[in-house]
Formats: sequence, structure tokens, C-alpha cells
Amino acid sequence: MSEDSDILIVGAGAAGLSAGIALAQAGRRVTVAGELDLRQTARTVALFEASLAFYESTGLLDSIAAESAPLEVMRIVDDTGSLFRLPQRDFRAREIGLDQFGYNIENRDLVRLLADAARRTPGLTLLEERLADFSFAEKAATARTVSGETVSAALMVAADGKRSAVRASGGIPVAETPYPQTALTAILAHSRPHREVSTEFHTRTGPFTLVPLPPHDGDEHRSSLVWMTTHAEAERLGALPPQELARIVERQAHSMLGKMRLIGPCGTFPMVLMKAERLTGTRLALIGDAAHAFPPIGAQGLNLGLRDVGHLVEAVRGATDPGAPDILRDYEARRATDIRLRTAGVDLLNRSLLAPFLPVDFLRGAGLLALSGFGPLRRAIMREGVSPAGRTPAMMRRDQRPNRS
Ligand SMILES: Cc1cc2nc3c(=O)[nH]c(=O)nc-3n(C[C@H](O)[C@H](O)[C@H](O)COP(=O)(O)OP(=O)(O)OC[C@H]3O[C@@H](n4cnc5c(N)ncnc54)[C@H](O)[C@@H]3O)c2cc1C
Repeated sequence: MSEDSDILIVGAGAAGLSAGIALAQAGRRVTVAGELDLRQTARTVALFEASLAFYESTGLLDSIAAESAPLEVMRIVDDTGSLFRLPQRDFRAREIGLDQFGYNIENRDLVRLLADAARRTPGLTLLEERLADFSFAEKAATARTVSGETVSAALMVAADGKRSAVRASGGIPVAETPYPQTALTAILAHSRPHREVSTEFHTRTGPFTLVPLPPHDGDEHRSSLVWMTTHAEAERLGALPPQELARIVERQAHSMLGKMRLIGPCGTFPMVLMKAERLTGTRLALIGDAAHAFPPIGAQGLNLGLRDVGHLVEAVRGATDPGAPDILRDYEARRATDIRLRTAGVDLLNRSLLAPFLPVDFLRGAGLLALSGFGPLRRAIMREGVSPAGRTPAMMRRDQRPNRS
């Protein structure tokens, strides 16, 4: 096999598959290469307004919505025990003219739906195997399949996740800071309805968040859990018998959703802040977690990754050579600020929770109070969380847009 695509995407996770579909729909010949990971890792993603617009314009929103739960209210509960503890705050999608902030879906369901769509997309080849030996030359980028065949394209897109081998082969360094936290994840059935409310308890080790999921397999009320805690505590909790862990989660959630039961295994994800120093190299563009990764505070990771995809589609649209230096410069310029601001914002919020100092608590409390008490600021922040201002690709803006008054 050789020189068969304009664009070779390495990694068939949510970002890689989404990019493959959108780029093929924009008229490119695309190969997406990678094994599909459909294991139950108890991980879900909340997709917000701009991402919903992305999937609407690729024709996938209805199938994604059918397997998701809408998120109508975001509730923040200060559970830090700080002197400046605030009362519970509710943020409603209606306040910014939306029916919901977004949809929450299991990662593996999203990947399965995207892979099905990829197989149906004209101009897209899904190669379900890992690639290796990445190299980048003036005219083309190449890689090798496990069976020894060579694949090449005018542009290689690294969508191979946080530990990207493509990024390393392209000589792009990363800045990486580990946090003293691991995210413990689980899917839970519970006796009371979630009423489409996502609840984030801010604790001293990080957020403990319960996010609505749709009914499934006879379980009427389900939510996903992301519990950021110390490495040792996550390991201890993850090793407990399921009934015992469910009881602890129930207690930590102040029994808000009633009696709880674990569905399937739980997952553990050590937290890091990682940002690639550049988003492009010779015949190379990074997207998704290959470009940036941070703790799931505010559920920003894949939403940011889909904005990479939207901008990449715009940068290469109509280009004779999608891997040419001017196209890559355009992509880099479009993405740098958004990625820098999101990464810094999540880092700041996470560190403010971890710091048990009164001045930090006071500032965090004051910030939250200002944001929750002052209408225009509150609405501006909510809009920014679901549909960022600034340069948004056309495919990520919906006709039925939030009222920006
Ligand atoms: C606990 C937790 C909760 C989260 N919640 C949210 C949320 O609510 N909202 C949100 O937007 N984000 C959330 N995120 C972040 C989100 O999950 C990630 O940003 C997203 O899954 C990244 O997708 P990706 O496709 O870039 O990378 P990945 O999902 O890591 O996919 C990379 C793919 O590349 C493949 N691959 C690797 N090497 C090769 C190779 N050599 N050849 C071929 N394929 C290869 C891998 O097998 C994998 O399939 C959360 C993350 C965590 C850990």
C-alpha cells in the first residue's frame, strides 16, 4: 500500500474518528488507522454545545443523542470544609437559551457510533490496526502497518492520545506536570432520578462529580462518577468489593441519588497537565489528547479536541496540498490561544481546590460567588464553557444558537 490518501490519521479514538469523518465529508481522501477500543473503562464524555453543532453538521447528532443523557443543570457544591464555603449553586441551560448544556455519553458508545459512521463515509478508509515507524519528509509523511506495509499521505494527523508516538517521532516536545491525583471512574445505577442535573462536589482532593446517563438494560436511573482523589485513595477505593465502593460513593454524594449499585468495573486515570510545545511539524498536525491533556474539570478535554478538528477542517479545506507549510501555520495560529487558555484555566481551578490556604479559599469562593451572583458574568461564563467565544469554525455553530444578548 502506498500514497493512497491525502490525510493519514493515526489513532481511532473519538478525536481521530471524528476528524476522519469531517475531513472526508470536506472532500479529502482520508485513512484513519488504529484499533478500536470498545472496552468498558467506566469513562464518559460530556459533549457541549459547540461539539453538538459539530456532530449535527456531520449528520451524527441524532444517533449520539439517542445514547446520551441531556445535561440541563450544572450544580456545584462546596464540600471542601473551608471557612469560605459557599451554598450550593445551580447553573441552568435555560438561562442562556439552551435546552441543555450538552449530552453525556459513554466513551465506548461514542467510539462505536463514530466507527460505524466512518465505515459508511465515502472517501474514508478505516484501517483497524496500529501503525509504527513514523517519518516525515518534505513531500510526504509515512508509517508502517504491523503487517509491514507502508502507508503515506501528504499530511499525517496525530490522534494517538496523550502518549503520542507520532508526536515524539515528529520531534515535538511536551510540557508535562503530574498532579498528586488519580480520577476514579465508575458507572452507577441509583434509586432516585438524576433529573438531568450534573453535580460537582468540590472536595480537598479535587472534584467528585456525578453526571447523568440514560437508562440502559433495565437500569432506569444511571450516572457516571469521576472522583478525583489521591493516588493511594483511588487505588484503595478501586480495589474494594463493588458493594462497598457503592456504599462509600453514596455517602460521599450525601445520598442525593439514593441507593447506589456499581455497573461493571471501575477505572483509574492518573492526572497530568500536558501540552505539546507546537501543534505542527513537517507534514504533521496534532489533535485531541496528542496535543493537550488535563484533568476532567469542567469536562473540557474532548470538547477542546473537537475544536482542533473543526479548525483543521477549515485550514485544509480547498487546499491543493493539505500538508503544505502555510496550511499548517494557519492551523497552529487558529488553535494556540484556545488551547493555552483552557489548559491554564483548568490548572488554576484544580490547584485552587488542592491548596488548603485561606487566601486561596477566599479567592476561589469570591470568584464563584461573583460568577454565580452577577447575571451577565454568570451567563458569559456559562456560554464560554459550552460554546467558546472567538473564532469558532462554521461547522461548530448551530443555526439555533444560544441567545448571546
Ligand atoms: C476520567 C475522565 C473523564 C473525562 N470526561 C470528559 C468529559 O466529560 N468531556 C470531555 O470533553 N472530555 C473528557 N475527558 C477527556 C476525553 O476523554 C479525552 O480528551 C478524549 O477521549 C481524547 O480522545 P483522543 O481520541 O484524542 O485520544 P484517545 O481516546 O486516547 O484515543 C487515542 C487512540 O489512539 C490509539 N493509538 C495509540 N497509538 C497508536 C498507534 N501507534 N497506531 C494506531 N493507533 C494508536 C489508541 O489505541 C486510541 O484508540 C475525560 C477524561 C478522563 C480521563
